[in-house]
Amino acid sequence: MQNEVWLRMGSFILVLALMMIWEAVMPNRVSPVARYKRWSSNFFLVLCGALTGRLLVPAGLAVVAIFADEQQFGVLNRVPVPEWAAVALAVIALDCLIYWQHRVFHRVPLLWRLHRVHHADPHLDASTGLRFHPIEIALSLGVKGLGIFLLGVPVMAILIFEIVLNASAVFNHSNIKLPNWLETPLRKVIVTQAMHRIHHSQVVTETDSNFGFCLSIWDRLFHSYTHEAKAGDDGLTLGLKEYNKENNNTGISTVLLMPFRQIPKQMPPKNGSPKNERS
Ligand SMILES: [Zn+2]
Repeated sequence: MQNEVWLRMGSFILVLALMMIWEAVMPNRVSPVARYKRWSSNFFLVLCGALTGRLLVPAGLAVVAIFADEQQFGVLNRVPVPEWAAVALAVIALDCLIYWQHRVFHRVPLLWRLHRVHHADPHLDASTGLRFHPIEIALSLGVKGLGIFLLGVPVMAILIFEIVLNASAVFNHSNIKLPNWLETPLRKVIVTQAMHRIHHSQVVTETDSNFGFCLSIWDRLFHSYTHEAKAGDDGLTLGLKEYNKENNNTGISTVLLMPFRQIPKQMPPKNGSPKNERS
């Protein structure tokens, strides 16, 4: 268990450091907000999320897998498959589960209140991939725990999945642009930065697409894939229209209390009500 913690922490810090160096050397966009303001809010939420996880499941989700195994509960504990196949199937199934969890968080207004903390970031970089409200982290832990129990996920698969999920989030939110010769084939398999940036567009139909975290297949399979934003990768505006002021999208208390506050009013355009707005 101790090795598992170090492995997760080590891989997380390594991927985060690599992407932050890449962003510093070859950034794709310029942030409209000072870096220290965004980073202080985003990394504060990382800390809150880590503490939430520690408080709710001190020994990690592996305990759920061990319990399911002891009870011989869950699909993969009942079906006789080789260990390697069970691990591979479980990692893929958990990625699919997170895809659906993400879709539901966009669909249910109460859950969107939590998830919009992530989308209110007016810029995207590696730190955005970790910017989640602690209540969303807690709910996600519950969903993952239930999935692990019902599927009978092997302990090894949880370790691999947690590492892959964190690395994917940091990778696909990072402020870099892959060359076309690499991006085009890569997005056929995994979620790339250009694909995920569309999910952070201010156009609601684009925000409500490209929900995948690691594998890009789920968006194609479940018809939520957008290949390109209307304004193009360089032209799309990031964040949420309602949260376009520094004092409502950054700040420690602002991000922590955002789900419990009313959505700020938008100035209506000259001819009609604001478009692409959601409750
Ligand atoms: Zn989202």
